[in-house]
Parts: sequence; C-alpha cells; structure tokens
Amino acid sequence: MEVEDINTIAVLGAGNMGHGIAEVAALAGYEVNLRDIEEEFVQNGYDQIEWSLGKLAEKDQISEEEADAALDRVTPIVDFEEAVEDADFVVEAVPEKMEIKKDVYGELEEYAPDRAVFATNTSSLSVTELSEVTERPERFCGMHFFNPPVRMQLVEVISGAHTDDATLDLTEDLAEEMGKTPVRVRKDSPGFIVNRILVPLMNEAAWMVESGDYTVAEVDSSTKFDMGLPMGSFELADQVGIDVGYHVLDYMNDVLGEAYEPCPLLVEKVEEEKLGKKTGEGFYDYDDGGADIPTDAGSEDAVTRLQAVMANEVAKLVENDVADPDAIDDAVMLGAGFPEGPAKMADDAGLDALADTLDRLHEDTGAARYESSDYLREAADAGGFYGGDEGDDGEYDYDTIRIEKPGEMVGKVVLDRPHRMNTVSEELLDELGDAVEALSEDDDVRALLLVGEGDKAFSAGADVQSMAGGGGDPLQAVELSKKGQETFGKLEACPMPVLAAIDGYCLGGGMEMATCADMRLATERSEMGQPEHDLGLLPGWGGTQRLKHIVGEGRAKEIIFTADRFDAETMEEFGFVNEVVEVSEFEDRAFELAADLAAGPPIAQKYTKRAMLAGRDDTDAGLEVESQAFGHLMNTDDLMEGITAFMGDGEPEFEGK
Ligand code: NAD
Repeated sequence: MEVEDINTIAVLGAGNMGHGIAEVAALAGYEVNLRDIEEEFVQNGYDQIEWSLGKLAEKDQISEEEADAALDRVTPIVDFEEAVEDADFVVEAVPEKMEIKKDVYGELEEYAPDRAVFATNTSSLSVTELSEVTERPERFCGMHFFNPPVRMQLVEVISGAHTDDATLDLTEDLAEEMGKTPVRVRKDSPGFIVNRILVPLMNEAAWMVESGDYTVAEVDSSTKFDMGLPMGSFELADQVGIDVGYHVLDYMNDVLGEAYEPCPLLVEKVEEEKLGKKTGEGFYDYDDGGADIPTDAGSEDAVTRLQAVMANEVAKLVENDVADPDAIDDAVMLGAGFPEGPAKMADDAGLDALADTLDRLHEDTGAARYESSDYLREAADAGGFYGGDEGDDGEYDYDTIRIEKPGEMVGKVVLDRPHRMNTVSEELLDELGDAVEALSEDDDVRALLLVGEGDKAFSAGADVQSMAGGGGDPLQAVELSKKGQETFGKLEACPMPVLAAIDGYCLGGGMEMATCADMRLATERSEMGQPEHDLGLLPGWGGTQRLKHIVGEGRAKEIIFTADRFDAETMEEFGFVNEVVEVSEFEDRAFELAADLAAGPPIAQKYTKRAMLAGRDDTDAGLEVESQAFGHLMNTDDLMEGITAFMGDGEPEFEGK
C-alpha cells in the first residue's frame, strides 16, 4: 500500500493520546474513526478534539472552515467492527497494559480488512510481542507520538522484529502527511530513542542525590542552566510523573539488565505516592510554588556526570543498531526540546573525558550503570560520534543554520532550530556571523535570503534557556548584548542586499535580526514584536537604535513600549514589512524577490548600503560617502552595461566590475 491509498484511519482509544492522534489525522484530511469502549469516553475524546480545533482557529493557525471540516471527518464510534471494518491504517492508543492491548489486537485481526496496517502508540511495551498476536506481524509497527500530538513534531516509527520495510516507509510517509517528522527506530528496544535517553538521565540524577554528593538544586541547576535543557532532571520527572518514569525504568531493568536498576529515591517517591505535579508533590512541592531552580547552583562535575551517562546510552543505541547518532539527536531535540542532541553534546564535551568519567565512577562504585559500552571508547578513538569530521565536509557546514544556494545567485540562510522556534542561541550568533562573512566573499552569491525553518517561526527571539548559564552576571550580559548587536550588524553592513522572509513569529531578538535586513517580506499570519519590556528587559541586540531608522522613532517606541505583537498588515503600514503575501505564495515570492535583488548592480548596491549606513547619524558623513561612491561608479563596466541596456530597452546583466 502507498500513502495515497490511505483514506480511513481508525484510532483505538480516545484518551489523552488517541484524541490527539485523531485530531492530527483529521487535520491532514483523513477520515477518522475514533473508538473507545464507552459512549462517554469516546464523546469526551471528540469534545476535546472540538475544543482543541477551536483553539487552533482562535490563534489563526487554521481557519474556522478548516476546523469545522476536520471535526466533520471524525466519527466517534463504540462498536469495534464498525470502527475498523473499512480502515486502511489503524493506530492503537489504549492503556499501556500488555493484556488489554493483546485483547484489542485479537479482536482487531478479526474485523479489520486484510489490507490494513496496524501501528501501536505504546511507549514501552514490546512491539514484537504485540505484533505476534496478529496474523500480519510484517505489517505491524510502532508509531510513537509525543504528548500532545497536535503540538509535538516527533513521531518515532519503530520496527518490530517482523516488520517489513514497506510498512516502515508507509508509516513514515503517513507521519509526514500529518505534518510530523518521523525518526526511524530500527529495533524494538525499551524506551526507543527519546525515553532511552531521558529515563536513565532521570535515574542518574536520582543516584547523584542518593549518593549524598549532590543536592536536587545542584543537579537541576546544572541540567537546566548549564546544559541548557528545557527543564531540570527532577523538574522533568515531576512533570512527567515519577511513577511513569519509574515504570519505564523498571521495564528497562527487566529487559536490558542491572544497569537500569531504579534508584531507591525514585522507588520511595512512588511508594509514598509523591508522584510529582499531578499529586501536588514530588521532588518539589507544588502547593508551595513548585520547582524553584537557582540559576547558579550548577557544577561542572555534575554536568560531566550527566553527560557521561547520556553518551553511554547513545553509544549503546548505536552499537545495537537501534539508531544512528543523527537520528538520536533529531529525535531528542524534537521529542524532548533539547537545544542540541546528546551525541553532539557529548562530542563537544569530548568523548574521551566522558568515558574516563564513567570508568572512574565504575571503579569507585562497582555499579553496572557506569560500565561503559565498548562502542563509546571506539567512538572516542574515532574522534567522536560524528567521527570528528562534522563541519568539515561541506563549504558551509553549521549546526544551527543551514546555507543553501537555490540558484539565481541567491544565498539562502535558514535559521535551523525548528524544535526551539528558531530562537537565537550563542552558537547561532557565532555561526550566523561566520556565514554572513563567508557568503559576502562568495562569488556565486549576490543577495542573501534569510528565513526560518518550519512553519511556526522566523525566529521567536533569544534562546533564553541556553543563555541563562551566565547566572544573570551583568558583565556577561553586556558581552552577549554586544555580540548580538555586532552579529546582526554584519547583515546590515554586508555588501549585498539582504531580504528577510518572515513566516510565523518574528519576536524579540528574531525581530532585531530581521531589522538588519534591507527588506522584509512577511506572510499574513506572521506576528512581530519586541516583548522585552514585558520581561523587564529592553531589546538588547540593537532594537533601541536600529528599529527607529525603519519605522521612525514614534512607531519604534510604540512597538517597544507596548511590547505587543503586531500582525503583518499593521507592520506593513508601519513601514517595517515591505510586502505581505499569502502563505501559499510565500516561498516562491521570497525567492523571486531575492533573485531580483541579486540581479542588481553589485557595486552600486554595496556603496548605497554603505552610504545609507554612514549617514544614519551623520548626514554629512553619509553624503561624503555617497559622492565618493558616485565618482567611483563612473569607471565601472556595470555602468556601461546599465546604460546600454537602458538605451536598448533590455535587461542589464551586471557583473560587479
Ligand atoms: P489514556 O488512559 O488517556 O487513554 C486510553 C483510552 O483507551 C481510554 O479512554 C480507555 O477507555 C480506552 N480503552 C481502553 N480499552 C479500550 C479498547 N479495548 N478499545 C478502545 N479504547 C480502549 O491513555 P493515554 O495516555 O492516551 O495512552 C495511550 C497509549 O499511548 C499508551 O500505550 C501510552 O503508553 C501511549 N503514550 C502515552 C503518552 C502520554 O504522554 N500520555 C505519550 C506517548 C504514548
């Protein structure tokens, strides 16, 4: 079966995950049969879909008509046969109990058509064991959505021992049709990828505290502020539910062995029913303000230890052929919101040092969890999980941005952190600065097109998380502000025209970056603003100075002081956006405009930018640059080309000479 042959999807279970998966499928245009065991449960799932679609429409992410049409495609059903008899694809999301799931698959095999593919959304049960209940284990796989499916981009597509490649390809295609990013998990291994990294991390955090060497605050501050992960390890455990993490760990302990022995601290919490946020208390007390993590209590030692344990899990996944380092990194960034994947982080920290840390801990404690995988040493000897050649194999090779040359002398700079709304990290600043300099020297490139990856944001601002490592140190903040000002200034000063093409959020630091482009194009759904005053900050990457040159001081003050978000049309009236386009036309129009700019006369463009910049605060200086440049242009071939084409009524072909 090809993905085009899928019309009807049956979703079994209308709970937390089932209703979300049904919503995503309906939004992608599929007919969805949503099934639960009682009228009340299935109706509840349906009501939640209706509520969620309403929210999406309220936020203009979809239109009212699209919301109504998606809801129309969902049919709530209790009768099993009716729910599955015409299904091309079945996603099962019933409770995480082997016996319940096995019963469901027994019944499913009886009523579902022969052509249907079965996928389980299980988080931790064996896909292989479940597939063996059916008569089609080769057309059975895991399709692991993350919570909530509507918002989370990742889908782990898991191969059971019998799954054929066509089923995995089909399921990945289906995930893409649903607007998700599939990552293949080549083996049915406990925790798949994301939980295999997160759960041992939580366990190690607990062991560190259990040993008496660290406090909860120290570990969480290290995780959140030094490593830049979205939450502290204990904060995450509380959020997910300590019992949920514990059960996955327990299963890993059964299947993978002693290295996954749950720390007594976790067992105690489960026994005392202090399960985290949902019970009001876990590692933090939620009746008393919840997780209050100090920004500066972390230690290098704690970071190294957590990273060493994660690196070991990466190594084991690679060694057992479950996934490659880049699939692991993609999955963990998308599924857990890490600013960088664990393999990349480990490479940056140095695999040798991490392996030494594990060996030392193993020697000191004798615990199996610190036994390093053979592959970890091998990868260390090879220079890292990425073989030490990451960054060397292309002309422009970056982690946080991507450079493309789509033709017509356009250099496209893609802000490539969609899992973090393309927010600006320090690494992104470094890479962007470097790329703009390199592209300015590149003979194939005559205009830059700056865009954000994905359909959510151009850039939603500074990545506050990854920058909080300074612990609020004023001197570091001054340096960071300067660095942002200078980096974005390179766009302003680069010799060729720069077009920022904005789709989605363009806020804070993201807007300050766009301000440094020469022109701005935006989709109608885009939202722009400088929200810093809401945080008691000010726009520190040039916003107080540069914005006023584009919209005038009055509007600049309005934007900064209100801290409001402005839609694209309003920003066009303010003069910030040069052109507003419909989403469907966005990519083509952005490229067309960039190509137009690239066809302009390079020398005249360079001096025009220079004169305008020099004249900003000192008109006389600007006028001087202008007249010198005017004289300089007299001797260029481009001038002859321009005049000849003008006289002959043709299009000039400028060469920058
Ligand atoms: P849930 O308890 O919210 O929902 C399960 C639903 O299945 C309930 O409404 C229940 O009435 C229904 N059900 C029970 N027996 C059924 C049957 N025979 N036929 C149809 N429906 C039946 O659970 P959930 O959180 O949605 O989890 C569902 C699955 O998704 C589990 O396998 C879980 O491990 C997995 N999962 C959960 C999350 C999460 O964060 N909650 C994330 C990823 C995967």
